[in-house]
Amino acid sequence: MRVLLLGGGGREHALAVGLCADPSVEGLIAAPGNPGIAGVAGVAELRAVDVADPAAVAALAVETGVDLVVIGPEAPLVAGVADAVRAKGIAAFGPSAEAARLEGSKTFAKDVMTAAGVPTARAYTCADEASTAAALDEFGPPYVVKNDRLAAGKGVVVTDDRAAALAHAAECGRVVVEEYLAGPEVSLFVVTDGEAAVPLLPAQDFKRVGDGDAGPNTGGMGAYAPLPWTPSGLVDEVMADVVHPTLAEMRRRGTPFAGLLYVGLAMTAAGPRVIEFNARFGDPETQVVLALLETPLGGLLHAAATGTLADHPPLRWRDGAAVTVVVAADNYPGTPRTGDVITGADRPGMIHAGTARRPADGALLSAGGRVLCGTATGPTLAAARDAAYALVGGIGLAGSHHRTDIAAAAVDGRITIPR
Ligand code: AMP
Repeated sequence: MRVLLLGGGGREHALAVGLCADPSVEGLIAAPGNPGIAGVAGVAELRAVDVADPAAVAALAVETGVDLVVIGPEAPLVAGVADAVRAKGIAAFGPSAEAARLEGSKTFAKDVMTAAGVPTARAYTCADEASTAAALDEFGPPYVVKNDRLAAGKGVVVTDDRAAALAHAAECGRVVVEEYLAGPEVSLFVVTDGEAAVPLLPAQDFKRVGDGDAGPNTGGMGAYAPLPWTPSGLVDEVMADVVHPTLAEMRRRGTPFAGLLYVGLAMTAAGPRVIEFNARFGDPETQVVLALLETPLGGLLHAAATGTLADHPPLRWRDGAAVTVVVAADNYPGTPRTGDVITGADRPGMIHAGTARRPADGALLSAGGRVLCGTATGPTLAAARDAAYALVGGIGLAGSHHRTDIAAAAVDGRITIPR
């Protein structure tokens, strides 16, 4: 099969590696792709396209004669790219615009969760200062204020500072104010065709910019899988209490969700609680989850895109663990400094997230906030962690920064679920 992959970040580089390792994938076209994706054996070409323009993507899929379009980022999903591709009779991995509202609107997601009886934080949608203040005071600190619209992973403020919480709400316009969920977080990816659903390995990501979870939220500074500290039976419990009720509610509404359902959970004293849904693979958790997936990725995503997931064989996983560490540009998660020359990136396991080639000489340049993800596997989590940090240690990029504690607490057995 020939595949068109949309997106140009670290998630898409990891997807490209996985797809090209699948013998049934005969050629992959990436749009717009990135220099890392261009170097993956099996990638036929990169094409420039506005990935959030449904008509342009559908035309590209027809022109290139692909059998499957894999949609990486959220913006094209919310814009209706999957619908436009399917309307041309081409399979698309990714939900319809209607179903992608599970990610595109926090209010919609809460509404579905309530109807489906999914365990989640109590919440209010607020559009003015008085209602925001009342909600903040009902729940008390730490305050959780979420932009109701897509904000590239940075629309959430968690703070003890009431004035800062109010200021964020005023900036966003419409927000969801919710109760704070205390406990370690888990990201669970579920591949689904709307009815059948297959969980991938749970992973953990690191949202805050600094060691010890200090500083502002980012798109994600690192991840690891599997999670040695989660109770056995967690995945089955989440499938039964969260995923299947949510999929059933989406079918009931006439907008079945097919694609990747990302369940972000907090492991609280009262049990797992949903923090958020996303409608696509998470970045950077994808880098570690796919590094451990042995089952061919193209066949799995094609089955989900064509409603045949129930017939797909059980997934196979590699032994051991995987860790990814994000190298971020100077000033990220503020406006990042870009255009700096990168050295040491040309090694296996180096996933490109925000890079570009200088036209004059082909030098690799930083081109985004998150620049590279040093990704490694190993027989143990400790070994994978050492290998990922060895990769990151070889990178030269002026002003760059990375967390030094990715997966450290898990390796040391310091993660506990509140009781
Ligand atoms: P979201 O974009 O909804 O995933 O939120 C980003 C991050 O904010 C999450 O990964 C959590 O670390 C944090 N967060 C969001 N909602 C809550 C909550 N109700 N309680 C505690 N932390 C939260």
